[in-house]
Amino acid sequence: MAAISEQLSHVCGADQPPLLEITIGEALVRAAARWPDRPALIVPFQDVRWSWSELARRADLLAAGLLALGLRPGDRIGIWAPNCAEWTLTQFAAARAGLILVTINPAYRRAEVAYTLAKVGVRALVSAERFKSSDYVGMMEDIVPQISSSTPGALASPGLPDLRTLIKIGGEPRPGWLAFDEIAAGDAGQAARLDEIGARLDARQAINIQFTSGTTGSPKGATLTHRNILNNGYFVGLAEGLREGDRLCVPVPLYHCFGMVMANLACVTHGAAMVYPAPVFDPRATLSTIEAERCEGLYGVPTMFIAVLDCPDFDGYDLSSLRTGCMAGAPCPVELMKAVVERLHMKDVTIAYGMTETSPVSFQTSLDDPLERRVSSIGRVQPHLEVKIIDSEGHTTPRGVPGEVCTRGYSVMPGYWNDPEKTAECLDAEGWMRTGDIGVIDEAGYGNIVGRIKDMVIRGGENLFPREIEEFLHRHPKVADVQVVGVPDPRFGEELCAWIRLHPHEDANEAEIRAFCDGQIAHHKIPRHIRFVDEFPMTVTGKVQKFLIRQAMVEELGLGVEATA
Ligand code: AMP
Repeated sequence: MAAISEQLSHVCGADQPPLLEITIGEALVRAAARWPDRPALIVPFQDVRWSWSELARRADLLAAGLLALGLRPGDRIGIWAPNCAEWTLTQFAAARAGLILVTINPAYRRAEVAYTLAKVGVRALVSAERFKSSDYVGMMEDIVPQISSSTPGALASPGLPDLRTLIKIGGEPRPGWLAFDEIAAGDAGQAARLDEIGARLDARQAINIQFTSGTTGSPKGATLTHRNILNNGYFVGLAEGLREGDRLCVPVPLYHCFGMVMANLACVTHGAAMVYPAPVFDPRATLSTIEAERCEGLYGVPTMFIAVLDCPDFDGYDLSSLRTGCMAGAPCPVELMKAVVERLHMKDVTIAYGMTETSPVSFQTSLDDPLERRVSSIGRVQPHLEVKIIDSEGHTTPRGVPGEVCTRGYSVMPGYWNDPEKTAECLDAEGWMRTGDIGVIDEAGYGNIVGRIKDMVIRGGENLFPREIEEFLHRHPKVADVQVVGVPDPRFGEELCAWIRLHPHEDANEAEIRAFCDGQIAHHKIPRHIRFVDEFPMTVTGKVQKFLIRQAMVEELGLGVEATA
């Protein structure tokens, strides 16, 4: 941890280059004019290979088709599907027509999707038919039994009064549903209206609602503007050195800001291609797509990089095309970052930190940071943003002293959709967004995330940060991944517990792990409980649900206390 100084933990990003003051639709039109023949979207498993001019042409056709259904700027259009070309087409078509895209987690089930659709008054839903155990069409028909007897486009459901139109991607025709391909064929009568609508759209209007992943409480609809997310995508791409003609491999979900902002909007502003290896993360498909498409960039949350590096036939792939990318979404262990630089050849890889409500990225390493910083910190504050660290009384801490990370600037959402109370809980009158993360900023302005406030462990009155212990255990050669949580303890209030995933074909016992810690870290930081597991409870975006680990331990240890999120 950095030395404590008189300087305060309040940093401001550069004011150059200037912010983009255009809409996402305009960015697409510009990309098509500037890089007409460069690849824009490559989806090998769907045989899709579209240039920027082709993507823009198709987005306009779909936008016209959506307008012909009676949708108007400001209406909400939901998208519920794993990664596919139609997802991205819908994203850009919605932006062209000024429709607010509501991105729905493809892992959601009935109650969650019904809540989401109702909460933000979705008028039209674009849905996949099915994927693995998710029968999207069947779930929608359970939620709205009137679908099969309704005229497509004129649904009337008492439970979801705003929902009028259901559009199904692929598959056989089905009563009550419109076919995506038919809407995507466009409508000649509406085409001329697009430029007229485009001219009236304002970059400060809402264009996207993302339901925050909710590793804890109930999901909230973060509302984001063109200006919020287009700029964030642009500055993320800039930090990574993303170039015109690069191909970016995107195994992260599109419904989350990692996919739709950090990947798609970085590509449209830098002329790189979006390459989707599979509908959902698949380490082997990721590797084979990097090789086949000669990708220069790769994204992932830490667990994805671990899975890619641990793939049994990893050495059989030619990954020499890789150069850059980004690891984000959860703490990025130093040892893992080093492996990504060395074994994946990603010499320019960056770490980014942020949250959906801030579009998402607020800190990122950059190419000119020394390697040591690039593997061990979240870098420095991004341009046009301000970050401060506050203590429990709201005072800005001296540099080197941890506290809650707060972000202000262009990237901060206007608020949660229709939820002024929840908005006021985290966004103050001066525009500061409280992140709920504990971070620290050093003398040189580099940041580090120590953990979530809720994950901090208080053992015998002492604050322990799981992140520090996780980083240490990552150094054990047999450890592939590790999660540390606090579990209730009658004597100390809380005790540390480590769940460890070993590399394939490894074997280890508790004594061995304790011996590794002995004399290396303070005695009270050595986890009292150690378990070896095959997997962690995860969200689709690769975030470990620590509260479920806690819950499982409470049950196993017979503590009988309901663990809270
Ligand atoms: P989401 O809104 O789903 O993007 O989740 C945001 C949360 O992910 C943040 O509040 C952090 O807790 C966590 N997070 C994102 N990036 C990082 C990172 N680089 N290091 C540590 N935690 C991160």
